[in-house]
Amino acid sequence: TTVLLKESSPYGKLATSNFEVKKTDKLPTEADLSPNEIVVRNRYISIDPYLRNRMTGTDGSYIGSYKPGEPITSIGVGEVAASLNADYPVGTKVLTPSSPWSTYAVYDPVKMAQSPLTQLNKLEGPLADVPLDWHVGVLGMPSFTAWYGLLEIGKPKAGETLVVSAASGAVGQAVVQLGKSLGLRVVAAAGTDEKVAYLKDTLKIDAAFNYKTVDDYTKTLKELCPKGIDIYFDNVGGEFLDAVLANINRCARIAACGAISQYEKSKSEQYGIKNLMSVVGNEVTFQGFIISPYYPTHYAKFAQDIVQRVKSGSFNYKLDITKGIENAPQAMMKVMEGRNFGKTIVEV
Ligand code: NDP
Repeated sequence: TTVLLKESSPYGKLATSNFEVKKTDKLPTEADLSPNEIVVRNRYISIDPYLRNRMTGTDGSYIGSYKPGEPITSIGVGEVAASLNADYPVGTKVLTPSSPWSTYAVYDPVKMAQSPLTQLNKLEGPLADVPLDWHVGVLGMPSFTAWYGLLEIGKPKAGETLVVSAASGAVGQAVVQLGKSLGLRVVAAAGTDEKVAYLKDTLKIDAAFNYKTVDDYTKTLKELCPKGIDIYFDNVGGEFLDAVLANINRCARIAACGAISQYEKSKSEQYGIKNLMSVVGNEVTFQGFIISPYYPTHYAKFAQDIVQRVKSGSFNYKLDITKGIENAPQAMMKVMEGRNFGKTIVEV
């Protein structure tokens, strides 16, 4: 089973008509392979907001758009099921940033190694034995994004106030917990009362609110952050970012991670920030980042830290699992509509 992009969607809500699910009766075997190629049985696929930007058919994504008629690709983890490559014997576990949304995938590891955006990574060494879903879950790209963005861009100091948006999601839930462990006052926003209760009761953060049911973000943030905001981990952009800027402290840091509130809007519909001068007057560091270049320098340290936290019971990571690769489009739509709760993955 493979999921293809049927029709690009420049803006507005995704629909099932944007996708096509193709099935074939024949499984790829060794006989179908060219020298060096392998067949991977996909186990888990990561569903992430940046994929939406790749479905626009425009230059909206920093990685490039999917083409109609081609399989959608995202981060995937699986096992080699057939091989003509001695470096990848049957059973080898592999992670790739560019797995098709399919049950099986045929790869030439040598060709894939030519770009970090497609490179196959063998799961060996200390991370070989953790559960396979960890590689798209607690040790996955969004969790790493949280860790890097908070530590390297947020530069947290105990006692400071951290605000996090989309706080129950893949990135957010990791940011808030790391923030608490570093002695920050953590204030978070999420889109349902159930998510808010999880943030307060399970992740034990200082304050959380449902941004869909408050009238005025600026006023709410002022009440919940009486000493102002020192660090903002921005997952949503738009009006929420504007309200943070109205409450920002001198020399605050903003980790500009994403702007999901704007991803489905046309240029003319996008929210125009009004409080940008607050960045100047308050000498705020407002830094965007993309996580991929930091794997070689920071991933091993991140993984060691997080494995230790998980094993000691001090780190929760909620997954939102959809079963069956044919249901990946529904999982993607859930993410864009805020109907996911935790890190969204597909169990292939
Ligand atoms: P999540 O798991 O948090 O899922 C997306 C969530 O965004 C939804 O659950 C919903 O939560 C929220 N959301 C959806 N629409 C809106 C909206 N209109 N306004 C406000 N919130 C909305 O996703 P991730 O944690 O994977 O990603 C979070 C952000 O981080 C995204 O902007 C993403 O692009 C970015 N990102 C950036 C990376 C980088 O390298 N810079 C790497 C990974 C992610 P709710 O119910 O709370 O509204």
